[in-house]
Amino acid sequence: MQIYADNAATTQTSPAAIEAMVTTMRETYGNPSSLHSVGQKAAEVLADARRRIAARLGCEPSELIFTSGGSEADNQALRGAALLGAAKGKKHIVSTAFEHHAVLHTLRRLEQEGFTVTLLDVHENGLVTPEQVRAAIRPDTCLVSVMYANNEIGTIQPIAEIGAVCREAGVLFHTDAVQAVGHLAIDVKAENIDLLSLSGHKFHGPRGVGALYVRKGLRIAPLIEGGAQERNRRAGTEDLPAIVGMAAALDEACAHQAETAARLIPLRDKLIAGLSVIPHAALNGDARKRLPGNVSFCFEGIEGESLLLLLDDKGVQASSGSACTSGSLDPSHVLLAIGRVHDVAHGSLRLSLGEDTTEEQVDYLIHAVTQVVTYLRSISPVWRELQSGARPYILP
Ligand SMILES: *Cc1c(COP(=O)(O)O)cnc(C)c1O
Repeated sequence: MQIYADNAATTQTSPAAIEAMVTTMRETYGNPSSLHSVGQKAAEVLADARRRIAARLGCEPSELIFTSGGSEADNQALRGAALLGAAKGKKHIVSTAFEHHAVLHTLRRLEQEGFTVTLLDVHENGLVTPEQVRAAIRPDTCLVSVMYANNEIGTIQPIAEIGAVCREAGVLFHTDAVQAVGHLAIDVKAENIDLLSLSGHKFHGPRGVGALYVRKGLRIAPLIEGGAQERNRRAGTEDLPAIVGMAAALDEACAHQAETAARLIPLRDKLIAGLSVIPHAALNGDARKRLPGNVSFCFEGIEGESLLLLLDDKGVQASSGSACTSGSLDPSHVLLAIGRVHDVAHGSLRLSLGEDTTEEQVDYLIHAVTQVVTYLRSISPVWRELQSGARPYILP
């Protein structure tokens, strides 16, 4: 059996998206900025894609800026908002310890440039509260950035409530919604969101394309200077096939969003229940306030990397932590943020299910993970020490 359970890292591009992209490449080759008919045809196709994506977020088409992906959208949002703040003498930013590196590393850079950043602690259940945000806002705060759903542990934050706190305080609110768009129902207006990042390849669209929603009236400075594309907010000839492919993928994901979630949640919960039977294992993040397809566990006494490789041999593609941090020896900053100690954080596994995951596959996942964890423990010196009592167990 082959099971791709790494949909949080990237998804397979959907046939509808590929079809839309190929058709656009063949038929709509003009530059949307050209004044002739071929260019104007491209401009119409671009406007149609923008309208469709805007409708799925509850915003106006003019409030969307197309980018090269989620990372650029995050960089643009934070830098744009920081500059607006600095112009008013406000140079304090509030965010959280478990953001994606596209946010954390941009914030670190802004600190080097004279901004002050408060990173909120994340509760053991993988959530931050609106009260924490309210308490962190100061008179000089210009921006709050809290991710919609975490990419490693899948927890969904109380975005509308945090948005309300920010609106009341007169502080801009950005959310990195890369893991949420296409998977959860989102309405930027109802949720008081000023800036929202999304990325095509996390919902079966192509890689290298994303968007930033910027609430009307917010005039943020561009990250990329050049031509007048995207109403002077992002220079560069638009990647029309990618944008159209992203729109097709989002239409498909959103059209089936509720039914996909209703089908995946029981499968996710069955997988969680099955893996919870393994001794000295723990689910990461709240059991219910999590993405429909996310299962994240820590297993004591093993290394996540060995687990991944042996699972791959059994036809299961998973991840430990996020794709961005694997390859480094440091444990995931997300798991450390929710209070997992280093040894435990090293034994992590993320299974991110896709729309087409079946119950039979979930049964196989439970069986395969249980088998591999048992085997790795049987050859682990750490596990032997734990069992002999030479070292205390951390997970019950
Ligand atoms: C994948 C991801 C990103 C980066 O998006 P890219 O399009 O790969 O640049 C940012 N934030 C989160 C939460 C993600 O999961």
